[in-house]
Amino acid sequence: MGFGWILTNDINLDLKFSGKTVEWASSTRAEIFAILTCLIICPPNSHVTIFTDSQCAIDTYYSLQHYKMTPRRLQKLNNVLLWQAIKWIIQSLNLTIKLNKVQAHSGNTYNDIADTLAKAGCEQPDIISISPVGVKPQKGYIKFNEEFIIDRNIRKTLKKPINFRNIERQISHRSLHIIKTFTLEHRINWEYTQYWMSFNPFHKATSQTYSKHVSWRMKCSNYALPTLDALNRNYPDILKGFDTCFLCSNSTETNEHFWTCSESIKILKNIFRKHESIYNSLIINNINYDKFKNEIPTITESPVFTCFNSNISTIFDAPDLHCILINMIPFSIIKPFQDAKISKKEIKKSLLTFLFDLHKDIYELLWKVRTSKWKQYKLDHGITKSTFTKRINTRRERKRQNNFDISHNNPLNDNILNIGYSNPFMTSTRNLDDSVLWIYLTSSNFRHNLPWINSLYLTIIDSIQFDTNLFYYNI
Ligand SMILES: [Zn+2]
Repeated sequence: MGFGWILTNDINLDLKFSGKTVEWASSTRAEIFAILTCLIICPPNSHVTIFTDSQCAIDTYYSLQHYKMTPRRLQKLNNVLLWQAIKWIIQSLNLTIKLNKVQAHSGNTYNDIADTLAKAGCEQPDIISISPVGVKPQKGYIKFNEEFIIDRNIRKTLKKPINFRNIERQISHRSLHIIKTFTLEHRINWEYTQYWMSFNPFHKATSQTYSKHVSWRMKCSNYALPTLDALNRNYPDILKGFDTCFLCSNSTETNEHFWTCSESIKILKNIFRKHESIYNSLIINNINYDKFKNEIPTITESPVFTCFNSNISTIFDAPDLHCILINMIPFSIIKPFQDAKISKKEIKKSLLTFLFDLHKDIYELLWKVRTSKWKQYKLDHGITKSTFTKRINTRRERKRQNNFDISHNNPLNDNILNIGYSNPFMTSTRNLDDSVLWIYLTSSNFRHNLPWINSLYLTIIDSIQFDTNLFYYNI
């Protein structure tokens, strides 16, 4: 981005400047650079009036003096480094500043000259940046990849890479390898999956019924349904190794088997046949003929339903169906809607309601059939609710095998992937790694938090570089 300014009180001096800046490009940042560079050349104790067309720069400048601008809030400002530099220059040179707004592109001679200078600035080979070492009031910075300082609201900026990391951690989990494959094959539409995960068709924002539905979606998508393999792992003393599938009676019941079981497929076939016609009428009734003019719409069929046309014995042969079952939304179920040129708003509305009814049937006609058999098993074997809750002693036993070592240094505890499924968004300090540490360091309160960070298991000193009076945290 280019920027420029011209001194107007003595035009004969012909004092003007133009330059170029990179990183965090924004028009406001260019304006701030113009203000900063013009203040540097002011003689000490001067009265300076700056005319700029950036209202944002003016507002932020005046907000710096506001009593509500605490050091913590200051750190959340975009371009805080530049603002700190400006404050530092004003203080060192004892300047008195006034900022005035001029209308952009309104024929103001000097503003037009500044515009031309800014454009010329873009062409210049040299890049202007400021060294953080010179800006004394700013004590710390966060550097990204040893490349550049994050001169933005740090929390908001880091949200993106942190989310990517969390997603990566989530799909790297052993039991979620299928989701990873589907992701790499670009089979899952994550946008619609997100809509679906938070879809609430009920009138109330929260309710027990809604929680139940969301729980089903979450458990399916994480392969965390309470199937017998998981129950055996968690309560080996209660099930005593019994893990035979309730539906087909000849395989171990796991989350994977539950969806691939030949008996499940039979039930699913009926459910999907019923919903296929509902789905097709949804498309046909909503075709946007206005957008087709004289063409005839060609609508592809979704493999989610067509897969049942051939004899499938396992859903490994039908990956799109597999996606739907584990509550991930495949691109292929959206495509027929798009073929019919239905608007995104309409797709969202009809598809989510459709999925809701479909999953309701899957839950009622498949999962509940399995659960009723599990309930019968519990009745037959005298297993009650309290059997599961009165297990304190055995839990202690498990911990002792770990020598009670829950510290971060124990590699068994170190890696989240080693301790069974755990939602990366819910990690406790026990499993802190670098990525979580960022959150603590970069949270809005990190200045208050520094003392207690010392009390964590981690030694963060290695990741922090000390300069004379600043620290960098490299990420
Ligand atoms: Zn089975």
